[in-house]
Amino acid sequence: MKTIEDLDVAGKRVFVRADLNVPLDGSTITDDGRIRAVAPTIAKLVERGARVVVASHLGRPKGAPDPQFSLAPVAARLGEILGRPVAFATDTVGESAAATVAALGDGEVALLENLRFNAGETSKDDAERKAFAEQLAALADLYVGDGFGAVHRKHASVFDLPALLPHAAGDLIATEVGVLKKLTEDVARPYVVVLGGAKVSDKLGVIDNLLKKADRILIGGGMAYTFLKAQGHEVGISLLQADQIPTVLDYLKRAEETGVEFVLPVDVLVSSEFPDLKTKAPATFSTVDADKIPADEEGLDIGPRTRELYASKLADAGTVFWNGPMGVFEHPDYAGGTAAVARALVDSDAFSVVGGGDSAAAVRILGFDETKFGHISTGGGASLEYLEGKQLPGLTALEG
Ligand code: ADP
Ligand code: MG
Repeated sequence: MKTIEDLDVAGKRVFVRADLNVPLDGSTITDDGRIRAVAPTIAKLVERGARVVVASHLGRPKGAPDPQFSLAPVAARLGEILGRPVAFATDTVGESAAATVAALGDGEVALLENLRFNAGETSKDDAERKAFAEQLAALADLYVGDGFGAVHRKHASVFDLPALLPHAAGDLIATEVGVLKKLTEDVARPYVVVLGGAKVSDKLGVIDNLLKKADRILIGGGMAYTFLKAQGHEVGISLLQADQIPTVLDYLKRAEETGVEFVLPVDVLVSSEFPDLKTKAPATFSTVDADKIPADEEGLDIGPRTRELYASKLADAGTVFWNGPMGVFEHPDYAGGTAAVARALVDSDAFSVVGGGDSAAAVRILGFDETKFGHISTGGGASLEYLEGKQLPGLTALEG
């Protein structure tokens, strides 16, 4: 894979595919980690006299402009981080984009509006995607892929565009891939994996491969209830992926056969209602054993005994991969489990990798020092698919 150093960028229009898909509360950015992560690549290109055209998706607009998913707040924040103006195009391949890019001088930066305001970006139709990639290609001379969080997507700006322009990987992708490579090749043991979060079906697949690599797998968050249900326990109205129960049972069986230690919550915080994440009004909840969840309640965080148990399972780790919060950390009453895992990683000497947009945001929002972790990845799905052993379209495209 070529790096930025291999490209002659001075005076050239360089298209940087970034992942600036940050969490927003209205138009307020609640965690700017992804912007800060790609800023060094942009700064390096600026320093070398490139005319930098940055593009990203944000959220899931339906192939047409939708103001709630505008990148305008991101342009402002990127400008603050870079300490220089960032021109903002109010469309992606239209008149505003063409004029904004044409006006760029050497060492100047522009951000295009959300790539997903165009149906071609995510289209499953190869020709439609390619047509959009050609429109994007007209805006640039060179391509730098640095949107690690999107490399598992076969999207126009990720997969098709690099084929149309001389290309290289940005520094963020180079770093992310280096870390993940380490997790698949030479890990210090015990290798402990912590999985949680809400995207249960997306995340179960990685366990298949991890059963061959990890020594211990700890399960929390919304994922835990499919496992508890598979073991025959009542899970009430907790998050449940009923169709995955056979898969989960197979994992538990294989873990036993191969000697991988599988650890499930022993207690959970339950409530009859999901907390109000806007007002953060105090929740009404109780702590119950994991096999005693009331039929009309849902599990929203791991309980205190589980927090202690998981901390002890992490204390002697040599390597940790963590993806997915342990509870609904956005509410202070259900943030304790996620904070306990983060604290255990900070306290351990393990090489720790945190993957997942919400997991990474949780670490920062809960006030942990990022530098105390080995690596905080900007890509959840991308890092999981890499660890699953899948080919990632955005990396394949950069290799060619
Ligand atoms: P990541 O972005 O780190 O990959 P996910 O997107 O899969 O993680 O999951 C993050 C979300 O999971 C958070 O918004 C959190 O509130 C939610 N979550 C965690 N535990 C539970 C639970 N027990 N029930 C419902 N949602 C949960
Ligand atoms: Mg998420």
